[in-house]
Amino acid sequence: MSLRPDGAGLIERLPPVRGRLEAERPLADLTWFRVGGPAEVLYSPADEADLADFLAGTPSNIAVTVIGVGSNLLVRDGGVPGVVIRLGRGFGGLAVEGGLRIRAGAAVPDVRVARFALEKVIAGLTFLRGIPGTIGGALRMNGGAYGVETKDVLVEAVAIDRRGRRHVIAKADMGYSYRHCGVPEDWIFTEALLQGEAGDEAVIEADMNRITEAREASQPIGSRTGGSTFKNPEGGKAWQLIDAAGMRGFALGGARVSDKHCNFLINEGTATAADLEQLGETVRRRVKETSGVELQWEIRRIGQPAGDVEH
Ligand SMILES: Cc1cc2nc3c(=O)[nH]c(=O)nc-3n(C[C@H](O)[C@H](O)[C@H](O)COP(=O)(O)OP(=O)(O)OC[C@H]3O[C@@H](n4cnc5c(N)ncnc54)[C@H](O)[C@@H]3O)c2cc1C
Repeated sequence: MSLRPDGAGLIERLPPVRGRLEAERPLADLTWFRVGGPAEVLYSPADEADLADFLAGTPSNIAVTVIGVGSNLLVRDGGVPGVVIRLGRGFGGLAVEGGLRIRAGAAVPDVRVARFALEKVIAGLTFLRGIPGTIGGALRMNGGAYGVETKDVLVEAVAIDRRGRRHVIAKADMGYSYRHCGVPEDWIFTEALLQGEAGDEAVIEADMNRITEAREASQPIGSRTGGSTFKNPEGGKAWQLIDAAGMRGFALGGARVSDKHCNFLINEGTATAADLEQLGETVRRRVKETSGVELQWEIRRIGQPAGDVEH
C-alpha cells in the first residue's frame, strides 16, 4: 500500500469538528521512542460528543487509529494514513464514585489515577503508578504491573464505536487476557470505572514509593523506549530468553537492546522506526533459533515504512 501524503485534502472530506484537525502532523514527539512519520491528519476531539459526531460522519473507508501517550507504540517512518485520534483535556475527568470507585477519563495518565487514589485513601490501584500510559492505553493493553492487571480493577469501560455509537462495556464483556482486549480494535475508549478497596494511607503511600523505587532500579525509564517489547510467553519470561540468546546490549543502527532490561529496545538518539523494528525482528529470530520460542510483539506498530510513501 502507498500513501501520497495529502492531509489537507483529507481534512476537506471530514465532518466539521469542535476539536482540532491538523494535516501532516509529526507523531515522533507524541511517542516515547521519538521516531516515526506524521499522521496524515491528527484529530484532537473536544469531548466525547465531538468524537462521536466525527466518527459517525467520517466515511468508513477512511482509516482511523487512536493513540494514547505513545508509551507502547512504534510509529513507522512513512507515517500513518488516514486519521490519528489523540484524546486530550476533554477526556481528563477524575472523580470518586460511591466511596471506593474512581471514574477516570481515557486521557488521564495512569500515574495520576494512582496519586488521586492515594489522596482519597483508596487502595488497590497503586500498580497504575508503574505504567507510564493513559487509562485508554491501559484498557486496550490490559496493562499490568506487580501482579495486578487492569482487568482486576475494572468495573466497566465506555467506548465509542466506528459509527459513533456509545457503549458501556462491563468487565466480563471486555474479552480480557494477558495484554489483550477483545473489544473491536476500532472502538475508542473514553472512560473507565475502576474499583478500589478500603485502605490505610500510610500503607498505600509506602506501596507507591516501593513501586517508584523498583521501577527506577529495573527499567531504563529515562530512555526513549516503548516498554516491554515482547509479551512473556506461557510459563516464561521474554527477557530471560533474550538474554540467553545473547542479545543483551545488541545494537542495530541507532537502536539497542537495553543493557538494563533486555526486553526493552532503546532509541539511542539516531534510530529510525525501521532500525527499531528490524532490531526487534532480529531478537525474535535469535530467540527462536536458540530456544524454539516465537516471541509475540507487545509493542503496537502502526503506519507504513518510509519506502512505501509516494512523494
Ligand atoms: C518505561 C516503560 C515502562 C512500562 N511498563 C509497563 C508495565 O509495567 N506494564 C504494562 O502493562 N505496560 C508497561 N509499559 C507499556 C505502556 O505504558 C502500556 O501499554 C500503556 O498502557 C500504554 O498506554 P498509552 O496511553 O501510552 O497507549 P499507546 O502506547 O499510545 O497505545 C497503545 C495501544 O493502546 C491503544 N489505545 C490508546 N488509547 C486508546 C483509547 N482511548 N481507546 C482505545 N485504544 C487506545 C492504541 O491504539 C494502541 O493500540 C511501559 C512502557 C514504558 C515506556
